[in-house]
Amino acid sequence: VQRKLDLLKKNTHNTANSLLESSALELAAKVDAKISNGETIGVLEGIPFGIKDVYMLQGTYTTASSNLLKHYKSAYTATAIQKLLDAGAIPIVKENCDSFGHGSSSENTIFGAVKNAINPELVGGGSSGGSAVNVAKDYTIFSIGGDTGGSIRQPAGYNKIYGLKPTYGRISRYGLMAYASSTDCVGPLAKSIEDIRIVLNVMSGKDAKDQTSIESESISEETIANTNTVKTIGYFKNFIENDAIDTQIKNDFLASIEKIKAKGIEVKALDFFKSDILVSTYYTLAMAETASNLSRLDGTNYGNRIESENLKETYAVTRSENFSEETKRRIVGGNQVLSQGFSDEIYLKGLALRDQISENFNKDFEEVDIIISPVTPSTPPKIGDSLKDPLAMYLSDAYTVGFSLGQLPTLTIPQGTSTGIQITAAKNNDAHVLQFANFLK
Ligand code: GLN
Repeated sequence: VQRKLDLLKKNTHNTANSLLESSALELAAKVDAKISNGETIGVLEGIPFGIKDVYMLQGTYTTASSNLLKHYKSAYTATAIQKLLDAGAIPIVKENCDSFGHGSSSENTIFGAVKNAINPELVGGGSSGGSAVNVAKDYTIFSIGGDTGGSIRQPAGYNKIYGLKPTYGRISRYGLMAYASSTDCVGPLAKSIEDIRIVLNVMSGKDAKDQTSIESESISEETIANTNTVKTIGYFKNFIENDAIDTQIKNDFLASIEKIKAKGIEVKALDFFKSDILVSTYYTLAMAETASNLSRLDGTNYGNRIESENLKETYAVTRSENFSEETKRRIVGGNQVLSQGFSDEIYLKGLALRDQISENFNKDFEEVDIIISPVTPSTPPKIGDSLKDPLAMYLSDAYTVGFSLGQLPTLTIPQGTSTGIQITAAKNNDAHVLQFANFLK
């Protein structure tokens, strides 16, 4: 714990407001005492981990990397984090991320851009960028990210580690600051499939405090280690055959397909929605949901209040001074698609498309056991570039957002020189995802 804290102190880019030094050292001393007394210890006892700064951990700052919540301290602890504490894991840092999860580069933050673990001139990815880089650099053993449209899987890919977005609802969202509630997922980033499995098991389960949470079975070590049960996999043709995909990413992906075929597995090319439809459906719904979720941050109950002449002015000034440009873009966009005169035309169309996308997945999983895809069409941009071109940033989410809309379990695994591949299974088949990833290793 001390060694990791020292590393984090020297490399502050991945840290939000708080390094949890004193509480971490106290917890570590308790574990030491237990061990010297010969007591049995929990599965994660003494393991130092990081938390994306969108999770409540009682008594710590939870800023969402935003100016608005810069001084906000959590009044309670998120269910997923509490389960990790109960298993003995030690939180050592609240991690830098895109403000409120809004972004794909971890540059939309008041704590400065997160630098890529492999090439520090490039972005760390986002929005769970600090979490991915901490794991990649061995500053934490694992980190807890949040994935609404790719925010665990994409930074995992950019930093060549593992990152899982479980089936929606498998882990309670209670105490996760809501971005888009219908796709928000809690998930782990780590350096091995085994670590992902252990942390997933600890956090999973139905929670009375989150009505969308679901019961699930623990995934055993044997289930993952067993010989492969996957007979047929599919990939989306249009994800590979288009002008936008980077050549190296395409070649690495095609090499993976060949490797899978050589293992005797049948590979099918599948039809899917075009990238621009996926991106616009996702952003329509995500912006609508975030406009609604963030409406409570007006400086009255929460937030960095800026007093003005009257209440209405106070709301307006607090919000316009404290939210970032990217967050404001989303609130304005979201309120527009929900407004009278627009909602039928845009929001309801988004919902209808989402149903069609889910239908498409259901049909696909009648034919194949697993879908694989690249994580991103492009390689990580240089720090500074994404901020100049938000539309290009949205389009870089083309391969992750579909699985979010479908609420499917998807794991990023590192691959060759590019940005990783995603392994996806039908809803609640998280075990299959981990098993197939292990088989591909
Ligand atoms: N980049 C996507 C967005 O900005 C996904 C973010 C996320 O998963 N939190 O919406």
